[in-house]
Amino acid sequence: MRPEILNPLFGETQSLKGIGKALAKPLEKLRLTRIKDLLYHQPSYWMRRKRVDELDEVDVGETIIIQITPVDYRTGGPRSPLRVHATDEAGNYISLTFFGRNPAWPKKLLPLGKPKIISGKLERYGDELQMVHPDQILEPEQGDNIAVLEPIYPLADGLGNGRMKQLVEQALALAPDLPEWIEPSQLAAKSWKNWKHEIQSVHRTENEGNSDRLAYDEIFANQLAFMLVRADNRAKKGIPVQGDGRLRKQLKLPFDLTNSQQRCIAEIEGDLGQSAPMLRLLQGDVGSGKTLVALMALLSAVEAGYQGAFLAPTEILARQHFESLQKLLTGLPVNIAILTGRDKGKAREATLMGLMDGSIHILIGTHAIFQEHVKYKNLAVAVIDEQHKFGVSQRLLLTQKADRTPHLLAMTATPIPRTLTLSQFGEMDVSRIDELPPGRQTIDTRVISVGRLPDVVDGLARHIGSGGQAYWVCPLIDESEKSDLAAAEERAATLKARFGDQVGLVHGRMKGPEKDREMERFLRNEIKVLVATTVIEVGVDVPNASLMIIEAADRFGLAQLHQLRGRVGRGSVKSNCLLIRGDTLSETARARLSLMRETNDGFRIAEEDLRLRGAGELLGTRQSGDAGFRVATPTQVSEFIGAATDDARLLLDRDGGLASERGQAARIALYLFERDWGVGLLRSG
Ligand code: ADP
Ligand code: MG
Repeated sequence: MRPEILNPLFGETQSLKGIGKALAKPLEKLRLTRIKDLLYHQPSYWMRRKRVDELDEVDVGETIIIQITPVDYRTGGPRSPLRVHATDEAGNYISLTFFGRNPAWPKKLLPLGKPKIISGKLERYGDELQMVHPDQILEPEQGDNIAVLEPIYPLADGLGNGRMKQLVEQALALAPDLPEWIEPSQLAAKSWKNWKHEIQSVHRTENEGNSDRLAYDEIFANQLAFMLVRADNRAKKGIPVQGDGRLRKQLKLPFDLTNSQQRCIAEIEGDLGQSAPMLRLLQGDVGSGKTLVALMALLSAVEAGYQGAFLAPTEILARQHFESLQKLLTGLPVNIAILTGRDKGKAREATLMGLMDGSIHILIGTHAIFQEHVKYKNLAVAVIDEQHKFGVSQRLLLTQKADRTPHLLAMTATPIPRTLTLSQFGEMDVSRIDELPPGRQTIDTRVISVGRLPDVVDGLARHIGSGGQAYWVCPLIDESEKSDLAAAEERAATLKARFGDQVGLVHGRMKGPEKDREMERFLRNEIKVLVATTVIEVGVDVPNASLMIIEAADRFGLAQLHQLRGRVGRGSVKSNCLLIRGDTLSETARARLSLMRETNDGFRIAEEDLRLRGAGELLGTRQSGDAGFRVATPTQVSEFIGAATDDARLLLDRDGGLASERGQAARIALYLFERDWGVGLLRSG
């Protein structure tokens, strides 16, 4: 149960004064539906205005508050802006410029000969001083109302800064005094203030960037929750698995395992032998051979007389894994089966029976394999592929089913920097495959400007003309799937106009089976070009697809681009990736794209991505890696993760039941950041 002290923070934003229907949408869009969301909505910057009497007291580029008197209106043609010519009290001229608006409106606000107080940024246009769209135009006696210093918030259509400030102030009035959960010495070392003080000063005093203390709180709660999972797991009864190697020896592999694979296999084997269940993450770039490592773990279980299960994120991936594992296991006395939502009737019954009586040794499938009615005789090893599609709570669910907890191996190809791994998979030990099997071809990557789209389409025509297949990934428009979809449909339509039935389309709004059907048509080479939103990110192996085209590549995060690019380069032919970019690029976007051109190394890309974001640009792109943190920026996460993890560990060492005063405070932090699944795992004593 959530501590009562937090109730005001979890109240609905809708309950504040002055919130009409019109605000619901922007609040929803900014994800500010609860009081605490508003409190944590930190200003993106502070606007500083300078009060001056004369224009020559200030430099161009400064934001000023000044009294002026309009003397003249000037417009050029119908398309040029309205310029209101005005003078300061010394007679210096300034042009107040209004673009694309109804000229009657500025004229009404700025009648000739009537002094006004205005505020805005002073600029130079030719040899004139100008101010474009003053942000305030008031009567001289109201001039004091203009704040000299003002927090400027991230906003959305329909919710302006003034209103946002009012809402935040109302929320601040509701903020309770929370007890301290940060280690006192840590607090002192950083000279951090208590929670309430900090949350107030974030909105009321000029700060640069996000609050470190508030970020730390979130990271701490996150790590504490992970530590609780770890502690809980350590206390569980697992199944020590000691395979004798007889099945693994019989595997006929056409290649040698890489050193990384061997090391990971050894690490996993070490875990399997323990009585506490394994909780291990296997990280490895696309194509690094994670499946084989997983297979070794599954076979260990079978050798020791137990069962194994392999969970894939989609139906089609489950089938692919099933087929390739079946092939590998030909001739071995291992019975493998598949179970997905699609398997029904008699076949399904037979599989369920086989699991129960133990005649099925390894089960592969989608979520279905961990549903309530699916009973195993003696499941000892569970593998989850493409882990980043599953949240922590889903992971917990999996391991809480049986009375003897199976070992869990989670796998991910999402390249994330080391520091962030700890923040997202903090409850797990990590093994890393950090090399690709020898002889892999790199994917040639080129960056092309959008103006050359027709050339790209011609190139695509040649590519499919010579028997190849291609992916065409559509731009990420914004957070709404709707506009992403519109863009994809439009692109599919233009490509169909040229290539006809050879073009298919998949997007996030399609139902699973529908999507799978389209994917399968692509896999069977019935369609040549697969237009897609980012749903193909986790994906199916289509070796014949050797061309990847990504539109508006500058809108994607690096990790995502890397992931998308990994869809090609899976066969023996040389693969190419074309990154289409917009005409104007930010410095960061340029750096990102050239990094993609330079390297195929996912981990290097991930580290670099973090660094580039640290340089200022935040989010803006959907990255699976960002899920979970709302207050801390990626840079803050990497800065504080070490300290926060130690802090959490220390607290639990001393007070495993979180019963002390500080322990109680830490519980509040868990609830505040919605990591209360951690609290559920607390054991007393
Ligand atoms: P991922 O890590 O992306 O899941 P997979 O396990 O699907 O990668 O492996 C990709 C391909 O590499 C498969 O065809 C697999 O058989 C092959 N492979 C795995 N290990 C090796 C190796 N040591 N040497 C050569 N090929 C390998
Ligand atoms: Mg894989």
